[in-house]
Amino acid sequence: MAAPIRNVDLGFVADDFDPRLLTSRFFPSKVGGKPAWLSLSDLPPVLSCPTCGAPCVFLLQVYSPREEQTNTFHRTIFIFICRSPSCCAENHNGSFIVLRSQLAKENDFFSPRPPDEDHPDVEPEGSGNVGVALCVVCGSAAPKRCGKCHKLSYCSKQHQALHWKATHKKKCCKEEDDEVEIPNLLFPLAELVMEEEIQQKDAQAREKSESEKLKEYQDLLKTNTEIGAGLDKDELEKSAVSETEDDKQFAKFKARIATNPDQVLRYDRNGTPLWISASHKPQPSDIPPCSCGAPRQFEFQILPQLLGYLKVDSVGDSIDWGTLCIYTCSKSCDIGNKYQPEFLWKQDITGGNPGT
Ligand SMILES: [Zn+2]
Ligand SMILES: [Zn+2]
Ligand SMILES: [Zn+2]
Ligand SMILES: [Zn+2]
Repeated sequence: MAAPIRNVDLGFVADDFDPRLLTSRFFPSKVGGKPAWLSLSDLPPVLSCPTCGAPCVFLLQVYSPREEQTNTFHRTIFIFICRSPSCCAENHNGSFIVLRSQLAKENDFFSPRPPDEDHPDVEPEGSGNVGVALCVVCGSAAPKRCGKCHKLSYCSKQHQALHWKATHKKKCCKEEDDEVEIPNLLFPLAELVMEEEIQQKDAQAREKSESEKLKEYQDLLKTNTEIGAGLDKDELEKSAVSETEDDKQFAKFKARIATNPDQVLRYDRNGTPLWISASHKPQPSDIPPCSCGAPRQFEFQILPQLLGYLKVDSVGDSIDWGTLCIYTCSKSCDIGNKYQPEFLWKQDITGGNPGT
């Protein structure tokens, strides 16, 4: 009997969205722009790239509450990335930061009533704002201020310098709008819409038939000498051997993705990642436990399809990945209003982006 089919949720980038609904109090899943923080206090200090130390920028966030616990009534996983392509090394996670935030239904920031999506401009009572200054460039916690006007805040010297050059040099100490988009820094904003994977049965059947086809043919050759007489058995076997384990895994990956080619994320808590390659898969000992002592479990993965949307898949040097697998505390341990680091495993196809 076939194993029961697991339900995986797929994430898609939606270009038709209301940006007002991608703010903190609507608990969004989204890609790009600035983070929509869940806990509005205890924001993480400067999110420095573990490799080069430059400030990372927001990549995406996934709203994934866990109903079985009261302290995870709201729960969001945030991912930040260094924009420097040289930090984004093959099979190396040193340019990413993953953070978990979670809150009970009764919390310090948001009304226990669900937000009214039909009236996004009406701020309900008990719905707080971030209590700390945010960087005007990237939306992270901002301990630094412009030394001249003391009005604008920045996460880091780097972002202050970028903003100064882009606009603030001219507008400092003037009552003028200083909103500016710094080129090639933040990713384009979009909603991340989750839908259940449906055509899984077909995909599994197809996967099966791919690998079984050759075996059936080989069996046929063995049993039917009349058909087999005109064919070179050695040639056939050689071609089967030359397909590497990596090729096979990549074919499997493509077959599974093919039924929903636009998916950018696969959510399958405590499931198994869909590996893009047979190489550089983590051993259980490669996934460090949470600081609470509980093991981390797989929660979701980001696919290379997202790179196309982020407009970073240009020829030459750019950030790149095969798949990014996110592992989080299996207990979703209590962290109050704090942001808890979680773990990311980066798997690449040797030789670069598969060009999906
Ligand atoms: Zn870096
Ligand atoms: Zn910043
Ligand atoms: Zn200023
Ligand atoms: Zn934990």
